[in-house]
Amino acid sequence: MNEFCPLPWININVDIDGQLLPCCKWTPGDIKLPNLKEGRIDELWNGEAFKTIRQKFLDGEKLKECRECWNMEDAGMTSYRQSVRETRWVENGTYSGVLASPPKMYDFMFSNLCNMKCRICTGEFSSLILNENIKLGVTHNKPEHKYWLNSKILETENEPILMSWLTDCKTIQMTGGEPTISSENIKLLDTIIEMGYAKNITFSMNTNAKIVSHKFLDKLEKFNKVRISLSIDDIGKRFEYQRHPSKWTTILGNIDKYIDTSFETIIWCTVSLFNVYYIQELLDWAPCKVKLNTLHLPEHYNIKNIPNFTKELLEDKFEGDERLTGIVNFMNQPSDIESSTLIFDALQEIHKLDLHREQSFSTIFPEWYEELNFGV
Ligand code: SF4
Repeated sequence: MNEFCPLPWININVDIDGQLLPCCKWTPGDIKLPNLKEGRIDELWNGEAFKTIRQKFLDGEKLKECRECWNMEDAGMTSYRQSVRETRWVENGTYSGVLASPPKMYDFMFSNLCNMKCRICTGEFSSLILNENIKLGVTHNKPEHKYWLNSKILETENEPILMSWLTDCKTIQMTGGEPTISSENIKLLDTIIEMGYAKNITFSMNTNAKIVSHKFLDKLEKFNKVRISLSIDDIGKRFEYQRHPSKWTTILGNIDKYIDTSFETIIWCTVSLFNVYYIQELLDWAPCKVKLNTLHLPEHYNIKNIPNFTKELLEDKFEGDERLTGIVNFMNQPSDIESSTLIFDALQEIHKLDLHREQSFSTIFPEWYEELNFGV
């Protein structure tokens, strides 16, 4: 059963909107996933949507909602379902029914509170971008946006349920927003430590490294193992442009601080239209292990959707560099969307934000800008 994935039996992902998913790589499709606004977490975990997903995996179906995993594997890269097996915890056992015991793995994205507005991110995942979008008139200040900052578990009917489930928890992952500044994350860590569960749990998080919160890191010392993924996609001025507002010198100092901890620290680099041309510079510079990941959405920044002549240019540039074989394979996969205007959409969005943020893509990325603009 090559397409089988055990995550819907053992992992629960709570996203910023209170949506429950089997993992963070799930692409919305025909299966309507449940939301914490609709019921209690334990009822939803064994509700119709999760039972349907489990049955489909048991039937050997290759779910289209899992296309991020299939695309990565087809490109010869490590998919999320594979990396979870390597780095987290997966029960060796049989998965035969559609009902599941309480999850062993948790992936929490409790709020979109963030201290950066990265170019590849959206308002759903960054409060700064959301505010900027409201100012730009791209989106409106809707009442549901407040929910993105609200507590999803603590001080709700779901808190006692989660606490009873955590006795058997193996891993917790926190992303965001920036996880180190979320008050719900901090409170949850305190509760887990007080209840004595931390020593059995592997904790992981993705941080943008804009700040190093010693208060947060001290709490992590109590966990069995800790894995920190630093979201670093580029270096120098290009980093500052892509992950704004930030100062590269500060980020460099913070990377060193994370590496100096006793935690496993890696660089989690997301390859997109912005950094693909310069990716070898990041790999040559990196002071620790780098995990290359590819951006899937938004489509106009996905490297599958850059013009063909720039793909050829990149293939020549990367020829013989085995570190980038997977990236080239991914880039050359057929696009998930039929549209010939994506590069225009990308350049237009870049220009609009450049004006607003007083930045300049053409100045910071001159060679790449010239290639992208050629013939457009
Ligand atoms: S997207 Fe990947 S990790 Fe998530 S459920 Fe599907 S196969 Fe598993």
